[in-house]
Amino acid sequence: MNNSNEFIDAAIPLPIEGPFTYSVPVPLRHGVSFGCRVLVPFRNKIRAGFVVGVGTTPSSSKEIKQVVDVPEEPPYLTPGLWEFIRWTANYYLLPVGLVLKTALPPGSDRKSKPWAVLTPDGRRWFGGMGDESGLTLPSKFLKAGVMLCKEMEDAIGARSLDDARKRGWVRIEERIARPRTSLRKQTLPELLDPAGSFHGPIEEPPPLVPDQETVFAVVRGAVQEGGFKPFLLYGVTGSGKTEVYLRAIGEVLARSKRALVLVPEIALTPQLARRFLRRLGGGLALFHSGLTPSQRLDEWRRIRSGMVNVVIAARSGIFAPLEGLGIIIVDEEHDPSYKQEDSCPYNARDMALARGKLEGVCVLLGSATPSFETFVNAQTGRLTRLDLPSRHHGGGMPKVELVDLRNTKGSDKTAAFITPQLTAAMKQALDRKEQVVLFLNRRGFDTFAQCRSCGHVFKCPNCDVSLTHHKRARDLRCHMCGYSQASPPVCPQCRGVKLFFGGVGTQKVEERLAEIFPDARIERLDRDSTRNAAALEGVLDRFRKKEIDILAGTQMIVKGHDYPGISLVGVLCGDLSLHFPDFRASERTFQMITQVAGRTGRATDSGKVILQTFDPDHEVIRHSASHAYEAFFQWDSSLRKELLYPPYGHLILVRIEGNSEKRVEEKAIRIGRAARLIKGDSREVMILGPAPAPRRKAVGRFRWQVLFKSASRNAVRNLVRSLMDEGHLKGHGLKIVADVDPIDML
Ligand code: ADP
Ligand code: ZN
Repeated sequence: MNNSNEFIDAAIPLPIEGPFTYSVPVPLRHGVSFGCRVLVPFRNKIRAGFVVGVGTTPSSSKEIKQVVDVPEEPPYLTPGLWEFIRWTANYYLLPVGLVLKTALPPGSDRKSKPWAVLTPDGRRWFGGMGDESGLTLPSKFLKAGVMLCKEMEDAIGARSLDDARKRGWVRIEERIARPRTSLRKQTLPELLDPAGSFHGPIEEPPPLVPDQETVFAVVRGAVQEGGFKPFLLYGVTGSGKTEVYLRAIGEVLARSKRALVLVPEIALTPQLARRFLRRLGGGLALFHSGLTPSQRLDEWRRIRSGMVNVVIAARSGIFAPLEGLGIIIVDEEHDPSYKQEDSCPYNARDMALARGKLEGVCVLLGSATPSFETFVNAQTGRLTRLDLPSRHHGGGMPKVELVDLRNTKGSDKTAAFITPQLTAAMKQALDRKEQVVLFLNRRGFDTFAQCRSCGHVFKCPNCDVSLTHHKRARDLRCHMCGYSQASPPVCPQCRGVKLFFGGVGTQKVEERLAEIFPDARIERLDRDSTRNAAALEGVLDRFRKKEIDILAGTQMIVKGHDYPGISLVGVLCGDLSLHFPDFRASERTFQMITQVAGRTGRATDSGKVILQTFDPDHEVIRHSASHAYEAFFQWDSSLRKELLYPPYGHLILVRIEGNSEKRVEEKAIRIGRAARLIKGDSREVMILGPAPAPRRKAVGRFRWQVLFKSASRNAVRNLVRSLMDEGHLKGHGLKIVADVDPIDML
């Protein structure tokens, strides 16, 4: 008998603290070890808990409940992962159970449901001749002996079930369903065999160019030496950063260590994964939000069991249960998709550094347009900066031609967006059988619908933003909550019949292009045209095979796609996102323009960019046109320094949401008042607000916020922590989230 397993501490994947101590009945003790799942009673349910401590003395003096069951399955958590989860909870001011829930694959946190169990008496009764009672039980139940109460009630009614229970034929038991085992689905069908292994030929790495050689030598040294070594790999688009990642991973694998690679979005994953597979062979796992829950669970198990050496993942992969890590790579580290919003806000980019530190490994953050946070860290020496200043083929950056939209005549703004300069350049590229990418940061056909007589603008009743007109479906849609209504024939305000659809969206662009270039193969890449991963892969695949001549799209087009055939990139309106009420609006715009411009001229020296703008003298436009990241950084960072915005100051945004604006407002005011009381005379933290959020209403909910800002990270955290401890950030029927290092300020 194993005495040391008499008590355990279990963490429960719910938005609560913990862990909680349970005793383990003797017959279950042999199965209990760190990280494994146990079924425990918790708040009148049986729930999954995860063992995070094993010992002989209970760490609390409260009444101790017993573990109900220990499913026979490999453990989930590792001590390292648990430490990382605790770090995350502490840093982001989140309950540890919530972070645990976020970290684990779906389905691992099931709670029990009531089941009906046939008793021996019941079996005897129904085994004989049971109809005297007038009660019949489903034959499926009699055969199996168990059934979900819910299912049974649907079949015979709640009253009959209760009757059977009273007669002692049926017992009700809280039970948890056994985890499903699913067949492994292929995420990369053409490269993996049904068992998930790779059979293609392994590609040889190309010889590195001198700059890559220099950078790689440093990374290799860091990997060989071991220990926490954070780097910024700052390399222009197409400079061969990915090639450096691959070499670094090769080095890690050669030392029998493992690699975790984070990429911004699923859109990037298929192409990148293929490149990785061809170079590294099997042992790769893809871990992203496009997987079904059972696929995620499968990938998690494969990783946890040690079958996987390289994980390529979107942000949630930061929790991948890889042991023996040798490197963490964050590609396109500036990408906002590393930030999870929602009720468990975290930033996987920042957490990569924390995990690297905990595990003592090398961390490589790569970008052509580093986030200010990362760039400042490199300036202060917290990260070591490695540069790839030119494209791997030695050619220059694509030439950017500015087109001033103010000088384009014509009443039709749509036609104006496809300017004569752009049309001419496109024609040239198409004549040479080269590909064109057009970028417009807007979906839909038009951006808004307005009455020409009274000026009424159609807005979403839930979100208070203007609705977007979708021509094909003939409706108006909200891009925030998905609300839609038919395009009205008359204005609801003045009954006017002249409705004007203003602005330009990708659909309208696509339609105009078809008129101008009737022979070209044109497709659109945005969230409307690619509802799912397969559709998206389809478009990218056709584009790669050069079955598409012109690809018009939104941000999705900006991401790190690597297609050598693109010779022209058109940015239809570079300043669309410049005037958002967000201190990162300039940074985002600069990133977007630079990244989309970087899609061209990747293989040869012939790329060209046409950047159209209403504001050609704006610093963001000027600097992005000349690929001058550092000049742009100088300009924008001085503004931020003055206002103590990140990375020079630290922010925590407390957002209060609810259905009743009055209650939201009242709560926000109370939080503001409490915060000022706690702060007292101290000038360390600034409290901004309470105020309605810039998006005052979203998805039918009202939103207010209080922003905390300080030069000291600890000061701002301590203040918000005190608010929490005093219970101010709870409210019935309200959602209150403290977002540490917020990204979405709207
Ligand atoms: P980045 O990740 O910086 O955008 P990539 O690593 O994708 O750049 O490189 C851009 C292109 O150049 C890719 O098609 C890649 O295969 C190619 N490339 C990169 N390094 C080399 C090299 N040393 N020799 C030959 N081709 C290279
Ligand atoms: Zn809406």
